[in-house]
Amino acid sequence: MAKKNIEQHKAVRIAVIDYDKCQPEKCNWLCIRMCPVNRQSKECIVQDEQGKKPLISEELCTGCGICPHKCPFEAISIVNLTARLAEPLHQYGENMFRVYKHLQPEKGAVIGLIGRNGIGKSTLLNILSGNIIPNLGNLDTEASWESVLEHFRGKEIFEFIEQVSEKKIKLSYKPQQVDSIPKKFKGRVIDLLKKADEKGLLKKTAKELEIDGILEQDISSVSGGELQRIAIAAAMLKKADIYFFDEPTSYLDVRQRLRTAMLIRELADENTAVIVVEHDLSVLDYLSDYINVLFGKPNVYGVISAKKSVRNGINEFLDGFLRDENIKFRGEELRFEVKPPGELTKKKKIAKFPVLKKSFKGFELETESGYFREGEVIGILGPNAIGKTTFVKMLAGVEKPDLGRIDLNLKVSYKPQYLVPEKGKTVEELFSEDEIDSGLFESEIERKLSIKRLFPMKLEELSGGELQKVAVASALCRDSQLMLLDEPSAFIDVEDRLEVAELIKSVSEKKKRVSLVVDHDILFQDYVSDRLMVFEGEQSVKGIGRAPVEMHEGMNSFLKSMDVSFRRDTSTGRPRANKIDSVKDTEQKKKGEYYYSL
Ligand code: SF4
Ligand code: SF4
Repeated sequence: MAKKNIEQHKAVRIAVIDYDKCQPEKCNWLCIRMCPVNRQSKECIVQDEQGKKPLISEELCTGCGICPHKCPFEAISIVNLTARLAEPLHQYGENMFRVYKHLQPEKGAVIGLIGRNGIGKSTLLNILSGNIIPNLGNLDTEASWESVLEHFRGKEIFEFIEQVSEKKIKLSYKPQQVDSIPKKFKGRVIDLLKKADEKGLLKKTAKELEIDGILEQDISSVSGGELQRIAIAAAMLKKADIYFFDEPTSYLDVRQRLRTAMLIRELADENTAVIVVEHDLSVLDYLSDYINVLFGKPNVYGVISAKKSVRNGINEFLDGFLRDENIKFRGEELRFEVKPPGELTKKKKIAKFPVLKKSFKGFELETESGYFREGEVIGILGPNAIGKTTFVKMLAGVEKPDLGRIDLNLKVSYKPQYLVPEKGKTVEELFSEDEIDSGLFESEIERKLSIKRLFPMKLEELSGGELQKVAVASALCRDSQLMLLDEPSAFIDVEDRLEVAELIKSVSEKKKRVSLVVDHDILFQDYVSDRLMVFEGEQSVKGIGRAPVEMHEGMNSFLKSMDVSFRRDTSTGRPRANKIDSVKDTEQKKKGEYYYSL
C-alpha cells in the first residue's frame, strides 16, 4: 500500500551533536576513538577544520549507538529513521537540529499545534515571519527565497511563501514565557498596551480579558495569570495577517482558559489566520479548526504532520500513531475511562480531615470535612484565588488553620505551586537524598521522565518545564502516604503531561498512597483523578472547599458553575468541550448533564 507524504527508501540516520555540551578537551575525542566505522579506517567521526569539534557523517554512520552511549556529556543523538523523509525544510547546520515538512496557515481558521517543546515551534515561527529563509537542508550554499520559491512552485503553499518572501505577511506573536515581560518593559500595564494598540480596541480587549481593573498598575506588580492575559491582549491589539499564540493558558484557570480560547477564535476571519501552540488538549480542542501534530525528537529533529481534523489530530496524538503518515511515534496509546460511581468503595478509608478555616487580610477560606481512601487520587478544581493552594498548604503543615486541627498521621510529600530552586544544588544531589526511593526512581520515574540526563545541572539552571518535572519526580520518589501536588502540569509539554498523569496514577495505586492534585487542565484531571474536590466562592474574597465527591458529581457541579459542557469522544473516551450553543451543548445543559455523556 502506498504511504502518503513519506518516500519509502532505505533507512536514514540523523546525527545531532549538542555543541554546548561537547567538551573534547575533557574526553580526549572519545567518540572518534570508539566509533567502529572509524576503526575500519573510514572517516565517520572527524574533527572539524579548526580541530575544535567533532563532525559525524550521516552517510557513513551505521547507527550502532556506541557514541551516544559512550559520550560522557550526553552530547550525541543518533536517530535511525525507518522511512526516508524528504529533504528538511530547514536545518541549522551540519549535525544540527532540522525540521521536516511545512505548515500552511489558512485565513479564517485556527490551526492548533500539538507537540513537545524543542521540536521546531520557534523554527516554524521564524520561517512564517520571514526571519529565517528555509535552506531546504542545503548546507553548502546560502539560502535564498528564489530557491525556496522554485522548490514550492506548483504547490498549494506557493502563494503564501511568495507573500512571506515579499514581506507582505505581518505576524503578531504572543511569546511562551510571559514572566520575562517585566524585565523587558517598565511602566504601567496601560502604557504597554497603548504601544501595541494598532486597532484602537484597548478598552474593549482589556474588558474582555478581564484586565481592565489593573490597567493603572505597574507591570512589575501583576500576577502570572494577569501577565498572561496582558501578553494575549498585546498580541491581539496589533494588526496582523497571522496571529501566533504560544501557550496562551499557563497560569489561567479553567474559566479564563475557555474565555481566552473563545476570544482567540474570534480573531480568525477572511483576512486573518491564527496558529496556537497549546499543551492543554481540552483548550486546543475547543479553539482549533485543524490540527498539525509535531513529532520527532526534541532538539534533534521535528516533523510537521499533514493537516488533520481536530478530532482525528488529537485522537491520533493520543494513539501515538499518525494514520496519513503511517508513523508510530509513541509505544503506547492513551485511553480515558469513565469511572463509574461506587467503584472506589472497595478501597479502604485511611484518614479523615476536619472542617478547616483560614483567614488572611480580605480573604477567608472554609473547607468541608472529608476522608481519604488508600491509593486514590483526588483532583482539586476551582478558579484562581479561591483558596486551593491554602488548603493544600494546611494539609502539608506549611500553613496553620485558624480552626480545625490536622491530625492525619500520614507522612506527607509536597510539591508546591511556585518552585524555588535551592541554589547550588544539582539534580543528582536532589535525587541522592535519603528519603528518595531509588528503586521507584529507576523502575518507574526515569523510564517515563528521563531525569538522569539533567543530573549534572544545577536546579537553578533548569528551564521551567524541566524544574517542574524534577519537582514532581522528587515528590513521587519521597517515602510518603499522602502526596500533595500543586499544579504538576504547569510549564510541561503535552507529552510529559500525559507521562506525569500516568505516573501519579500508578505510584498512588502501587504504593497505596493518597494523592491530592490541584490542576486546571481538565483532560489531565479527568485522566488522573478518582474523586474531585471542587472549590467555589468569590475570587480573592471568600473560598469554599467542598468535600471530595465522585468524579461525575464533582465535574458536573464544577462545569455547571463554569457554564461549559463536555462530551466524551467515542473512540478515545477523552472529554471534549462542546462549542457554546451547539446542539450537544444545548441538549446536555437542558438535561443538567455537563459531563460524561457519550
Ligand atoms: Fe567527547 Fe562527546 Fe564531544 Fe565526542 S561528542 S568529543 S565524546 S564530548
Ligand atoms: Fe560511529 Fe554512528 Fe556508531 Fe556513532 S552511532 S559510533 S557515529 S557508527
